[in-house]
Amino acid sequence: MSLQSTFAIIKPDAVSDGNTGKIIAAIEENGFRIAAMKKIHLSQAQAGGFYAVHKERPFFGELVEFMTEGPVVCMILEKEDAIKAWRDLMGATNPEQAAEGTLRKLYGANIGRNATHGSDAEDTAAFETAFFFSNLEHC
Ligand code: GDP
Repeated sequence: MSLQSTFAIIKPDAVSDGNTGKIIAAIEENGFRIAAMKKIHLSQAQAGGFYAVHKERPFFGELVEFMTEGPVVCMILEKEDAIKAWRDLMGATNPEQAAEGTLRKLYGANIGRNATHGSDAEDTAAFETAFFFSNLEHC
């Protein structure tokens, strides 16, 4: 497997709980290179656009409310097999089902407030990266 990049978010719950630094430390300790990073407060339109794939789901409104309640930290992460490696480090979507030591187990509260986001495939990684970062912001 060659070097791959993925898109990651530290969600508003983890940012407001003061867990940004611990999550970034875990990212670096697990061998990811941070190729881009910024902190932003999403508007409802931006959060809805990012999660458009979920707009028919019953939790869509709750998800948009949550993602706009405070700032998030967005990153492009690089590593061998980065998409799977980052999802493994995050753990299962529902923190109650996430493995011990994973970020969602450590810092998530429930399925809605689960601390981190990670792309689930190469096409979503490309869409999500371009949604938040221009080519000039990768380094
Ligand atoms: P992920 O790829 O592991 O993030 O999971 P999904 O793509 O299935 O869902 C995207 C995000 O929607 C999750 O990370 C949660 O923040 C949120 N979500 C998923 N299921 C639920 C739910 O049942 N209730 C609420 N409130 N949010 C959910």
